Amino acid sequence: MTVKIGVIGTGMIGRDHTRRIQQVLTGGEVVAFSDVNLEGAKALRDDLAPDAEIFESGQALIASDKVDAVLVTSWGATHEEYVLAAIAAGKPVFCEKPLATTAEGAKGIVEAEVEHGKRLVQVGFMRRYDKGYNQLKDTLNSELGAPLMVHAAHRNPTVPEQYVTPMAIHDTLIHEIDTFRWLLDDDYVATRVTFPRTCSASHAKLRDPQIVTLITKKGVVINTEIFVNCKYGYDIQCEVVGEEGVARLPEPMSVVMRKNAKLQNPILTDWKGRFVEAFDTELQNFVDTAATGTVEGPSAWDGYMAAVTSDACVAAQEDEGATIDINYPDRPALYN
Ligand code: NAP
Repeated sequence: MTVKIGVIGTGMIGRDHTRRIQQVLTGGEVVAFSDVNLEGAKALRDDLAPDAEIFESGQALIASDKVDAVLVTSWGATHEEYVLAAIAAGKPVFCEKPLATTAEGAKGIVEAEVEHGKRLVQVGFMRRYDKGYNQLKDTLNSELGAPLMVHAAHRNPTVPEQYVTPMAIHDTLIHEIDTFRWLLDDDYVATRVTFPRTCSASHAKLRDPQIVTLITKKGVVINTEIFVNCKYGYDIQCEVVGEEGVARLPEPMSVVMRKNAKLQNPILTDWKGRFVEAFDTELQNFVDTAATGTVEGPSAWDGYMAAVTSDACVAAQEDEGATIDINYPDRPALYN
């Protein structure tokens, strides 16, 4: 069976996921597009899926009999309404992060899915599909004994001028927030934020770098440095310290060069290259499971947990050095 997919949001990631479905993955076909920018949608159709239909609204696309499953890759603030509409239509939906821009919004999606009684929502936390993180998780589970600490870093060479302090949580740390819950099979109970000296490449509305501490139910302390003006490259680091040893996330594969009395490895500068295979695997997983009418992988519950944790981290930014409690409701059985 070919899963007929409708794409809502035809900007950067909508285009990239369409390319994946049309040219890289198997079992899916993009048959519909919608975007507030109809010209952009038409251009994407002409480039990658000439037979696809253009819908004037995301709601009309979701309701169409031509569409079996939905990809939500529009601007973050619009995700909630489209995901809710897909659940109401009983169609599997892949939603790029964030699931919703407020914890309340994400909670509403969880409630709607629980009411529906079957999982339909997969959230785009692609790091769970990254080979390196999966190797680290296997090592952690088989070799390290109980995890005690995690040292991590999320560094970007530069960010746009409109990137401000809370975005370090909502747009950047959000990936670590989900990844470490999954990696450690744990939940967070508290957070605090420390701001070192601000780098000179930053501006008045962005305190950069920052160090976010997350403390888990089992007592693991995770320190993540976020540094989005690091200049030298896009660099994701993660080291887990366990009772029996220490394990580190593998570096992306690259050629080692000896030249001019130096031993060198290139460092990536663009995040798209860092997780390209993980994006392929996550979307193939969506297509494969959507064919059976359900989904796997990061759930609406995980999207909700990420939203609750993000809000607590932003509160911790606003109250530097204070420990902010993180309280979650009980997990519905659907997500066990
Ligand atoms: P983008 O290039 O700005 O594309 C977003 C598209 O959505 C634009 O074409 C925009 O049109 C359109 N749009 C805005 N409001 C809409 C509405 N009500 N209905 C339908 N379409 C609407 O942004 P992007 O970089 O692709 O990011 C899209 C989403 O993916 C964001 O939530 C982002 O956080 C997420 N993302 C995730 C990752 C990841 O690592 N997993 C990476 C990149 C992006 P206009 O341009 O006319 O406003």
